[in-house]
Parts: sequence; C-alpha cells; structure tokens
Amino acid sequence: MNKASENFLVNLLETPSPSGYEQPAARIWREYVKKHVDQLIPDVHGNSIAVLNPKAKFKFMLAGHIDEIGLMITYIDEKGYIYTAQIGGMDPSLLVGQRVKIMTKQGEVFGVIGRKAIHQMTPEERKKVVEMENIWVDIGADSQEAAQKRVSVGDPIVVDVPCRPLDGDKLVSRATDDKTGAFVVAEVMKALAKRKLNICVMGVATVQEEVGLRGAITSSYRVNPDAGFALDVTFASDHPETDPKKIGVVALGKGPVLHRGPNINPVMEDHLFKVAKKHKIPYQVTAEPRGTGTDANAMQLSRGGTATGLISIPNRYMHTPVEVISKLDLDNTIKLIVEYIAAHPANRDYRP
Ligand SMILES: [Zn+2]
Repeated sequence: MNKASENFLVNLLETPSPSGYEQPAARIWREYVKKHVDQLIPDVHGNSIAVLNPKAKFKFMLAGHIDEIGLMITYIDEKGYIYTAQIGGMDPSLLVGQRVKIMTKQGEVFGVIGRKAIHQMTPEERKKVVEMENIWVDIGADSQEAAQKRVSVGDPIVVDVPCRPLDGDKLVSRATDDKTGAFVVAEVMKALAKRKLNICVMGVATVQEEVGLRGAITSSYRVNPDAGFALDVTFASDHPETDPKKIGVVALGKGPVLHRGPNINPVMEDHLFKVAKKHKIPYQVTAEPRGTGTDANAMQLSRGGTATGLISIPNRYMHTPVEVISKLDLDNTIKLIVEYIAAHPANRDYRP
C-alpha cells in the first residue's frame, strides 16, 4: 500500500460517520475518487456513486458501506449528564471508560463515559451487566442548561480513538467495519481507471448499512446492476475464545474471504476462485448458509435479482473501538477485484 492510499485510509477511519451522518467521511471518499472516474453522483440518501465506462451496457456494482456504529443523544438530565442510544449494535460494557466525540451542528464536543469507581461498588454491582440506561456521557457541563448550550438531543457520537499501526502490516482503529470496504471500492476504481474495461463499473460508498442495509437498498435500485460485489469485514477466528466449529477458519493476513451459500451467485463464485488462482492471490473461504447481514443481501434481492458476490476483509474484535485488520488483506482484496473486473467480458450469463 502506498503512502497516499494509507493516508486516505487513516483519514476515512478517523473521520466520524455514524449511520445517517456519513457525509464528513463520504466527502473525503468522493474527493479521493473524483479525479479517477468518469462520473460521480452523490444521491439524495447520502450514497456516493462513482462511475467508470458509463456507456457500456453491462453494469457491475461495488458496494462498501461508509457508515459506522455509534451513539445518539436521547436525554440530557438536570445535572447536564447525557444519555444515549446505540446506532447499530455494540456491547455497552466496552463503552465504559471511553472518550467520545459528539458531532453537533456547531462542531465537535468531547466527552467521556464515566462510571462509579471500583472501590465504591458492592460485589453485586461489580458483576452487573452494563446497560445503556446506566451509563452516561459527561462533557464537563455543570447544569442541564450548560450542556444544552453545546449539545442537542439527536446529536450523533463516536468513540474518540485514533488509528494506530500494530505489528507488521496490522492496524487498529474503530470502524474498520466497514470503511475498509469503502476504501477498497475507491482503490479499485482508481486502479481500474488505468485498465481497458468491457463493462461499466459503479463503485458505491453506501450509507446506513449498520441500521438495516438501507443505502444498499436505494443505491442497488438506482444503479440497477447486472452483477456486483459487496465488500465488508468478517469475523477472524485467529484469536482466543473463537470457535472454528461455529465460524470456520479465518486469519488476518491470509487474504480476502470468499463465501459460499445462497447469498452468492454460483457462476460468480466459480469465476472468483479462478481469478484468485490465476493471479496467485491468497484467499480463504467460509460457509454462509443464509442471506448475510451485509449489503450483498440487499443487492441480491434488488428488483428482479442481481448476481451478487461478497468479499470480506478478516477482522478481529468487530464492533469494538479496537478492530484489528491487516493492510496486506486490503491489498489482496483490491487486486482480486481489479483482476476480476478487468477480465470481465462485455456480457456474462450469470444464471445458475
Ligand atoms: Zn458492522
């Protein structure tokens, strides 16, 4: 991965974009792909659609969701403490002790999620599960009025953590789910701009995936693709307390994960394996016996159906502020998709 790509990735990861409030990150994404594509269409839902070779009849869609999980202010109490609800799903116990960033109309406001000191907890309290109604955001305000001057009900929040390199090619950040997918889509568009294409490629940074695949529903309808891939992260099983009997074998650094199952078009599945083998791109395989909880599900079920594939980036600690991924996996994912699309004929019968 070159420096420009890496800077773009870190910028995407660190820019808050909880579902429904993606535009700060979406603007960075559009700015980056703009110079490489033939058209760039921001839609009314917030999706960003980049187009290569628009005149070709066969349309191939790529979807990577740019939204992330977060919190939203629901209530400010009389002392100025702030209560929240989740945007997307997370484990509330992980929020305790975090610093947070609130996106207000006037800009960012910082806060913390505090908790009673351990010394003051009874043995029962120490064992109790953390629930959203028992944790609060403290922005340092001394009263309800003071808090209301700075933040409002409905303001979104993300955990305030930087992206950091780990050993080798690994990286830790919040929201690698799924800004790494949106990153891959942008890099694929950039690389394909230099290749001769037989088909039209529509790369989409989708919104609101974490709250019900909502951007993929609207953008798949608009793009009306003949075929497409969704890019997302998937659970790695290479850390303690995971069970390969349940999720199969997925390790960081061993390449993109291809899936088999009803959400994957079988003709596409065969071609993907062939392209990976031909270009000696490492990959891993998992079984998905039902529709997946990804944009691939919305894409496949759009209109009369779309030939859909799902390509996933191995991810440790998904939906926590410390998601870990491998940059090598990102490079190999980009390579696989670029070679697949560059070799795609002007038409292909994807009927199983
Ligand atoms: Zn997610």
